[in-house]
Amino acid sequence: MAKPPVVIVGAGHAGFQLASSLRQAGYAEPIFLLNDEPHLPYQRPPLSKAYLKGGGAPDSLMFRPDKFYRDQNIELIADRAAAIDRPARKLSLASGAALEYEHLVLATGARNRLIDLPNANLEDVLYLRTLDESEVLRLRLASRRHVVVIGAGFIGLEFAATARAKGLEVDVVELGARVMARAVTAEISEFFQNRHAEAGIRIHFGVQVTSIESDGAGVAGVSLSDGRHIAADLVVVGVGVLPNVELAGAAGLPVASGIMVGEHLLTSDPHISAIGDCALYASERFGGSLRLESVQNATDHARCVAARLTGDTKVYDGLPWFWSDQGPDKLQIAGLTTGYDRVVVRGDRTQGAFSAFCYKADRLVGIESVNRAGDHMFGRRLLAANGSITPEQAMDAGFDLKAALG
Ligand SMILES: Cc1cc2nc3c(=O)[nH]c(=O)nc-3n(C[C@H](O)[C@H](O)[C@H](O)COP(=O)(O)OP(=O)(O)OC[C@H]3O[C@@H](n4cnc5c(N)ncnc54)[C@H](O)[C@@H]3O)c2cc1C
Repeated sequence: MAKPPVVIVGAGHAGFQLASSLRQAGYAEPIFLLNDEPHLPYQRPPLSKAYLKGGGAPDSLMFRPDKFYRDQNIELIADRAAAIDRPARKLSLASGAALEYEHLVLATGARNRLIDLPNANLEDVLYLRTLDESEVLRLRLASRRHVVVIGAGFIGLEFAATARAKGLEVDVVELGARVMARAVTAEISEFFQNRHAEAGIRIHFGVQVTSIESDGAGVAGVSLSDGRHIAADLVVVGVGVLPNVELAGAAGLPVASGIMVGEHLLTSDPHISAIGDCALYASERFGGSLRLESVQNATDHARCVAARLTGDTKVYDGLPWFWSDQGPDKLQIAGLTTGYDRVVVRGDRTQGAFSAFCYKADRLVGIESVNRAGDHMFGRRLLAANGSITPEQAMDAGFDLKAALG
């Protein structure tokens, strides 16, 4: 009789990478990859970037064509996991079918955080996480004239820049005092605020949308907490995501702001792992628990679990990195730029090419680079090796970063 398979719940960046890495590592047993979206597994970053601009066909987003899954003997199952019976090691599916597993990997990702406002269910109030949502927005960009974006995070700003480049009037409403405030230094926020303003995007800080107005047919505008009104025919909401933890929680696995896993990405059940956006993992490198939302995190988690399931058990120690394209500018982040106590700048802000080097107790913890890919690659290599350079070296344009790598 065939051995029970590895069952992967969710065919996003983490789930897809795990299935392919298992085969690359020579794993020969069955792999079941549960996909609850009506497309072959696809990449999300272009949904708010190149794809939204209207360049490509959906096929351009797919990780691999369907032939890949057949050739690799990865069984892609169009279904949704409904419940885990841990003692029986059995997963029930929404269709009523059930799958036994030897190892279950939860790669359930995250979903849009929804806003609860009057008229939030109008068809021109939209979100951006899935291919279908990006498709709808692509169409709306061609027919709408004025968009209000709620939230000045990465996705809100990427969308805003694309909408503006397509000629729409764009207002961004942000409750905080600066853009991307939870994720980047004030230096980077200031640069992007100026760039978006130069492009004609209006950003309103310290206010929130209190209601969405309808003209009977569709969106007519929004009201703000300071009493102002902005006319608009489209509202795009980018107020963050919620990790999909319910399946794990209902099975009695510990969940907090993510599915809790240890440094090997295992839950409290030795037959269940969790990876990617849904996983709150214990990090030896950073000395606490982290839940990150990035392609790097999803794919490196997947590789770590694939290695464990094929006999090479390691502590997960990936170095976080991330990117965001906003208009003509590329932001890249290496390391974790939170909890720093000093920031020094390398390069020239006025020329639109600089990096913010972040220090905690005189140790480099992260680098945020704008249009300076070399600094970013340097940061990834140096930080992965637990290296550092002094703030004075970072600021000195004559200091050779490559030489510092040895
Ligand atoms: C528009 C956009 C732009 C982005 N840009 C960047 C970027 O520039 N750089 C970057 O690093 N990151 C970016 N990200 C973040 C990155 O895409 C995510 O971190 C990554 O997709 C996480 O992968 P994941 O597999 O953990 O989760 P997901 O990609 O969310 O995949 C999870 C999958 O699991 C499915 N699922 C959930 N529950 C079940 C269930 N019960 N049964 C079956 N399936 C289930 C979901 O439907 C989904 O298909 C972006 C994200 C978005 C939305």
